[in-house]
Amino acid sequence: MAKFIFVTGGVVSGLGKGITSASLGMLMKARGFKTTNVKIDPYLNYDAGTMNPYQHGEVFVLDDGGEVDLDLGNYERFLDTSLTSDHNITTGKVYSAVIEKERRGDYLGATVQVIPHVTGEIKERIKAIARDYEVVVVEIGGTVGDIESMPFLEAARQMQLEEGRDNVAFVHVTYVPKLKVVGEQKTKPTQHSVKELRSLGIQPDVIVARSEDPLEESARRKISLFTNVPPEAVVSAHDVEDTYEVPLILEREGLPGYLTGRLGLPDREARLEEWERMVETYRSLEDTVEIAVVGKYVKLADAYLSIREALKHSSVANGVKVGIRWIEAEDLEEKGTKLLEGVDGIIVPGGFGSRGSEGKIMAVRYARENDVPFLGICFGFQLTVVEFARNVLGLEGAHSTEIDPKTPHPVVDLMPEQRDLNRLGGTMRLGAYPVRIKPGTLAWKLYGKELVYERHRHRWEVNPDYVGRFEEAGMVFSGVAGDDGRRMEILELPEKSYFIATQFHPEFRSRPMNPAPVFKGLVRAAKEKRYGS
Ligand code: GLN
Repeated sequence: MAKFIFVTGGVVSGLGKGITSASLGMLMKARGFKTTNVKIDPYLNYDAGTMNPYQHGEVFVLDDGGEVDLDLGNYERFLDTSLTSDHNITTGKVYSAVIEKERRGDYLGATVQVIPHVTGEIKERIKAIARDYEVVVVEIGGTVGDIESMPFLEAARQMQLEEGRDNVAFVHVTYVPKLKVVGEQKTKPTQHSVKELRSLGIQPDVIVARSEDPLEESARRKISLFTNVPPEAVVSAHDVEDTYEVPLILEREGLPGYLTGRLGLPDREARLEEWERMVETYRSLEDTVEIAVVGKYVKLADAYLSIREALKHSSVANGVKVGIRWIEAEDLEEKGTKLLEGVDGIIVPGGFGSRGSEGKIMAVRYARENDVPFLGICFGFQLTVVEFARNVLGLEGAHSTEIDPKTPHPVVDLMPEQRDLNRLGGTMRLGAYPVRIKPGTLAWKLYGKELVYERHRHRWEVNPDYVGRFEEAGMVFSGVAGDDGRRMEILELPEKSYFIATQFHPEFRSRPMNPAPVFKGLVRAAKEKRYGS
């Protein structure tokens, strides 16, 4: 029977509950327990697919095509695992299921209510995942006290009653601010949020105190006293430079050991050597390359979280630090490519819509003409095709029909079967699809394989009618869809030192110990450019 660890948050949002949950899952897995993580998002959206990255950061994509909260990306990276859409429970999913059941007559004459029907649906979903695992870490999004999260907290409370106290533990992540004037850590907000939690019938077993500096002894004692949590279960999680250090801090604070004791799990040593080495390597890097990311949501770093992480993984693998120069594509349109001067590599990431697209095209051109190591991703891949069409093939006005439906040269277009755009949902190519790689190409060297699976999230494709002309002019399509050879997946310019773009999103499968090949290659090329080979 599985053990459940619920992670709640108090005081403010954005505390790093996701990283805490991911770290907890990782520490349990490192003890040899079959562990997985679940994220609950109390919003009414069915999934994250239709949300602007400015809302909750990037939309993460899973193998099964699920468009989910970015915390699932953290779980996948920390636990080195692949999750499914079921691991992201939203109010939208729960209510749709309940209403569907009601229409089907499953509730047989009953008045359908939040308790027990909605809470029942929530519990069922959590338990369904637990079938294959020994430990399930369930993060409840939002802050305790939000109206939206009430049914989820209530379901969690019921689970403790039904599964037994030994099988369900609660970890509450709170904020302990330090007031500059008095220089003292303040515990009152924590006291209040625990009070709120207890009024819902939940007594936390552990308090994870997020603070700028390590938690002072006096603050720890005070929190313990007022929240009825033993001092050894009040854990300090102070700010660190890099999120991959968090599990090591929580381990040092004794958190996982306390939880295994509390849940009656055997007390096992965690195997963290590899992780420690990774963190140590990252910390000790001195040489630095600078890589520009030219996007349209750069004001919010979380909008490109997986790209940032993939660069970090590649940084460790290549023994060089990567500094990111975030560039707003529209600024490039205004101020010109001098914004790119001096960078060792350029990434044009995925995106939707016209804002900033000309700036991105300028970045592609700059990379191509100056032989700056380049990686284009999804929309970045499509705009690379557009740039080449305009400036190498001389096809004036060439564009993607997404941006310019009347372009004389629709070099990026919808496949005929996808043209019914009255429905934006359901027409995207989502999730893992096979990509067949041409032997002897750069892609083949990077992957070392002829068939790979990568995650997709797009509608538009390179127009098959133009492929021949591109190839004649020196562009190599080194990867095509394994299930449908008409779809181009990877392009490269072999005469450049490193110039590659992918229709898929390699960043979603990048892992700390196993970086995405095209990112690893980019950082290697950037390092060679700066420091020689
Ligand atoms: N907007 C493009 C498409 O739909 C690219 C999407 C993306 O970059 N994720 O095909």
